[in-house]
Amino acid sequence: MFWQKQAETIGRKTLEAFQLERLQKTVRAVYDKVPFYKNKLNEAGIKPSDIKSLNDIKKLPFSTSDDLRVNYPYGMLAVPRDNVVRLHTSSGTTGKPKALLFTRNDLDNSAQLIARCLVMTGTTKGDVLQNMMTYGLFTGALVMHYGAEKLGVLVIPSGSGNTVRQITLMKDFNTTVIHITPSYALYIGAVLKEKGIDPKKDLQLRRAYMGAEPYTEETRARIENMFGIDVYNSYGLTEMNGPGVGFECAEKNGIHIWEDMFLMEIIDPETGKEVPEGEKGEIVFTTLQREAMPILRYRTRDITRAAAGRCKCGRTHRRISRIIGRSDDMFIVRGVNIFPQQIEQVLMGIRGIAENYQIVLESYDEMTVRVEISKSLYDGNIEHLLELKATVTDRIRGAVMVKPKVELLEPGTLPVSEGKAQRVIDNRTL
Ligand code: ADP
Ligand code: ZN
Repeated sequence: MFWQKQAETIGRKTLEAFQLERLQKTVRAVYDKVPFYKNKLNEAGIKPSDIKSLNDIKKLPFSTSDDLRVNYPYGMLAVPRDNVVRLHTSSGTTGKPKALLFTRNDLDNSAQLIARCLVMTGTTKGDVLQNMMTYGLFTGALVMHYGAEKLGVLVIPSGSGNTVRQITLMKDFNTTVIHITPSYALYIGAVLKEKGIDPKKDLQLRRAYMGAEPYTEETRARIENMFGIDVYNSYGLTEMNGPGVGFECAEKNGIHIWEDMFLMEIIDPETGKEVPEGEKGEIVFTTLQREAMPILRYRTRDITRAAAGRCKCGRTHRRISRIIGRSDDMFIVRGVNIFPQQIEQVLMGIRGIAENYQIVLESYDEMTVRVEISKSLYDGNIEHLLELKATVTDRIRGAVMVKPKVELLEPGTLPVSEGKAQRVIDNRTL
């Protein structure tokens, strides 16, 4: 089943011709309308007319999340302010948010992409979709909401949290599809079990769209078994509309990226050069049909690889593997974005705690903070410092909303770094 069959099964040659035409238009638009990009292109010595082939994209400068922050609120706008009908911001937890602006056409395009994703995974007009993402400034809930409505699905805008009510709604309205983060799905699964509700018998659920944070195949399998459903990986980021950038099809063998909307590159985050086909790298997007805020070569910091070969589903849009992680410092535990600096800030404010610390990640729902105590406090024993340990635990939980496991260490235990310290030890594998 297809929503926009022609666009979804478009031949590669036709697609590439289309991409080139749209890329040229996009570069022209930002050069003419966005002073920030005009300066950037001038600095790089590039004119819109220099883009003669898709390969010429490599001549264009990258855009970063800092560029969006610097140009907050309206600096990246390529249309008159009056044509903007929606604002979203990203969930970034430090500094100024990244603001994304949409025209009516931008919103319509994002809804069409969601409708493609839903149909691709077997959702039809008769389905009932319970949208368990946070409504508000984030893209997650609203973009899915309007896309599902476009398809004609009954949408229950339940938002996240309030688990008892979620369960009641699922039961009473025969919810068939949920849009949810993996950590929340695991939580609801546990609550259902506790209440003696068997989702396989007592609910009508058939599938879940799961994303917003990295998760493993094992987690997918656990959730599928727990609920007796199919779980499809949903990938998106605020800067590219939010959900609907890429989605798994019924084959569940990688995430199709909608390449008529987003030009994708996979680069080596260190060198900025394209990686050989199939190798791991940072995914970079250029918007091809954006009106309000076209973005050139956006550095997502998300690490993935392109999947080889054509997909059996008939769609020609290339696929990527699960997102392996982010190349920058931010990490996600229990669906919460955490920067090492936030933890550092807490630690540094506690008497008896020294500067050296490490954050160790073994799974997506737990973090261990290992920190040295100060020399003045150390008397040859650390076992008795229970109060200090509790303080560290509580303050970190207060700051980042995730309760850490805390290990207090003797002074001098952790490696002393020369240059950039490796604060986050990420041992999570996929
Ligand atoms: P922020 O950039 O502040 O986290 P977003 O809410 O836009 O704000 O989050 C987008 C990010 O979430 C992506 O760049 C990616 O790192 C992560 N993400 C989204 N979907 C998935 C997914 N299916 N698998 C792994 N990570 C995902
Ligand atoms: Zn497919």
